[in-house]
Amino acid sequence: MDEQVDVLIVGAGPTGLTLGLTLARYGVSFQIIDRKTTPSDNSRAIGIQPRTIEVFSRLDVAQEVLERARTIERGNLYFSGQLTAKLEFSKLVTPYPFVTLLRQNETEDILERALQKHGHVVKRGETLSSITQYPSRTIAHLTATDGRTRAVEAKYVVAADGANSSVRRMLALPFSGKSFKEAWVLADLKADWPISREEVHIFFSDL
Ligand SMILES: Cc1cc2nc3c(=O)[nH]c(=O)nc-3n(C[C@H](O)[C@H](O)[C@H](O)COP(=O)(O)OP(=O)(O)OC[C@H]3O[C@@H](n4cnc5c(N)ncnc54)[C@H](O)[C@@H]3O)c2cc1C
Repeated sequence: MDEQVDVLIVGAGPTGLTLGLTLARYGVSFQIIDRKTTPSDNSRAIGIQPRTIEVFSRLDVAQEVLERARTIERGNLYFSGQLTAKLEFSKLVTPYPFVTLLRQNETEDILERALQKHGHVVKRGETLSSITQYPSRTIAHLTATDGRTRAVEAKYVVAADGANSSVRRMLALPFSGKSFKEAWVLADLKADWPISREEVHIFFSDL
């Protein structure tokens, strides 16, 4: 066996990084891997909910997140171009009664640097290719981008590998939730428009 840890975290998105930071604070041994060679570069999880900031506060990263983010207290929902509903976040019962807007890659950057302060580095460019399960342990087989392989023995393998989880497929676990058959367009751009910049605007259409 190449290495042994208590927990192998598959995926260094916000979920995996937050778990890693939590385990680091409790002194649990772990490794965190991601098949991507570089951190993500787009906004994706840009709207952070108050509860997440509460969790970040316990992990000592909330302050930096709030310093780098924009916070928004109101939102607007439009259907086919018509303003249909208004959202008010300022009355939420939480120390952080607003939605925090920060690009996912920036959140990941803050979490990853916090992990580094605890002496942990994300092992990038490594893909979980298979798992062998035994009653009290697992053996995870990892493949690097250059083709090299290694095996890690872990008490737990945590699938933090996103919505199309490859770990879930490897274990033949069913997806018990429901997916929405909706098309979304993702673009990070600067908009020059007359509507308020102090509120979130979400547009739905039938197309
Ligand atoms: C257009 C769009 C808009 C969104 N807007 C919001 C929003 O406003 N607010 C919000 O909260 N969420 C939003 N989301 C959802 C958000 O992106 C996800 O909730 C978030 O990315 C989940 O984080 P995660 O860490 O669980 O997974 P991910 O960010 O998907 O990270 C999973 C990681 O696992 C790695 N990985 C996968 N398989 C393997 C493997 N076999 N071996 C090694 N590594 C692997 C991937 O490379 C990836 O880095 C949006 C998503 C999209 C697409």
